[in-house]
Amino acid sequence: MTDREWDDCPSSDHMFMPLHKWMLGAPSRHQTLDRKLRLFAVACCRQRQELFTDPHCARAVETAERVADGQSNSAEAKELYNAIMNLPCDGAQAHVIHNVTLKLIGASGLQAAMGVIMDLAVATGWDDFHSITAVQAPLLRCVVGNPFRPVAFDPRWRSTTAISLGEAIYVDRAFERLPILADALQDAGCEHPDVLGHCRGGGPHVRGCWVIDLLLGKAQ
Ligand SMILES: [Zn+2]
Repeated sequence: MTDREWDDCPSSDHMFMPLHKWMLGAPSRHQTLDRKLRLFAVACCRQRQELFTDPHCARAVETAERVADGQSNSAEAKELYNAIMNLPCDGAQAHVIHNVTLKLIGASGLQAAMGVIMDLAVATGWDDFHSITAVQAPLLRCVVGNPFRPVAFDPRWRSTTAISLGEAIYVDRAFERLPILADALQDAGCEHPDVLGHCRGGGPHVRGCWVIDLLLGKAQ
């Protein structure tokens, strides 16, 4: 896959094999991508939050986000995992959603991400597969960026203003402020079209957004 094909790819499932191949190209990519792919999985579940009606399953989505950022201890995730395992299975859709949430908190980020692509399609009927993977594609680009056109983030762009804006955006999930961050990065000397374009583009943006991660040093 070329960088342009990645930019234009309409479906998350078509992006996954090339992404996995790219991951295998360097061991250091695994840890970074594990966090990002778990956050991608969380974002995909939030897009279909109407499916996560059971309180344990809804909690698993929140917990998985904290697991990704190292803010959840393993006992918390294990307790929740066991609780979901013991939930009564009320129909095929509930069964699939339970499985998704178990992967979110109990499997690797890669497995969680692959799980949401397939399982959310199963949970909502295969007829919906294309619309589900279509809305997931920009989420995957938001968290991973473009692996076939990596950006070298210049440390000089990490001005005090840009860092404090980035931290607030991450904590508050205030991604509507990304155009303001673009201005701050530009004031710090950034003219990179991918960085500025991503901040000023229409999104969607979620936790794990590659520009925020590079700014805050979360992607190393
Ligand atoms: Zn983004």
